[in-house]
Amino acid sequence: MYDIAVISGKGGTGKTLVATALSAYYGWDYIDCDVEAPNGALFLEPVWEESYDVSVTIPDIDQKKCTKCGACIRFCRSHALALTMSGPMFSPELCHSCMGCEVVCEAKAITRSTRKIGVVKQGRAGEQIVWEGRLDIQEQIAPPLIHKVKALSRRDGIRMLDGPPGASCNCIETLKGIDYALLVAEPTRFGIHDFKATVEVLQRLGIPAGVVINRSFGDEEEIRSYIGRKNLSLLGSIPFSESIARAYGQGDLQMLLNELQPSLKEWGGQILDRGECCKR
Ligand code: SF4
Ligand code: SF4
Repeated sequence: MYDIAVISGKGGTGKTLVATALSAYYGWDYIDCDVEAPNGALFLEPVWEESYDVSVTIPDIDQKKCTKCGACIRFCRSHALALTMSGPMFSPELCHSCMGCEVVCEAKAITRSTRKIGVVKQGRAGEQIVWEGRLDIQEQIAPPLIHKVKALSRRDGIRMLDGPPGASCNCIETLKGIDYALLVAEPTRFGIHDFKATVEVLQRLGIPAGVVINRSFGDEEEIRSYIGRKNLSLLGSIPFSESIARAYGQGDLQMLLNELQPSLKEWGGQILDRGECCKR
């Protein structure tokens, strides 16, 4: 198995464009880990075959047994518990499922329950396997769902993980255990700022990475010199083009493949040439 995560830092840089087009071109499994806004399926149009509810463990407080000692509230760093006149009040959307509150409750008033946070689906787009994690509306804790879609989609071969924007928990969960990161960079002020933050994360984690510059005019001196200074490989770029923007806006994968075909072959070849993919 060889895992390639496509990440970007800033949202809207064209991460899903690259992940769907590249995975479809090579027939790699596509895993949508952007569980707060999964939209790879809009391009790949899979026929869904399986669906799995994903739940997390949460505390269940028996108010009759509770002595209102406050130990669970003092313990909870997530501020998911607050003391009221009638006992601890629980805010499930803030809970990180550590169950430390259960451990510190000497009255044994806390037991375990579960709560659904989202769904993982598996489907096929022709021969290509497609997975998607989708967080339920109003849910805020995405890493358990990202963990689940990665775990369920494990199999021999190459997987392309379409990561979430940002460089925080959701991105880190996507990056855990991967072999290679493909960074999609946007040569705008905000794009470069977030790109640099993501590079710092990757280098701290020791993950090898390559870069594709999207919406390129070919003269992005700042981002190109930064890529050089950080010893990243620049795989290539996508030109700032009306036809590509139109294909992307219409979710037209075939048009995107037509537009990007030589580049996709080149980028995939460079990733595979790193030589590790086929050794595992
Ligand atoms: S399980 Fe952990 S995060 Fe959730 S309420 Fe208990 S202490 Fe807080
Ligand atoms: S630790 Fe147990 S007894 Fe104390 S406030 Fe929390 S639930 Fe109640």
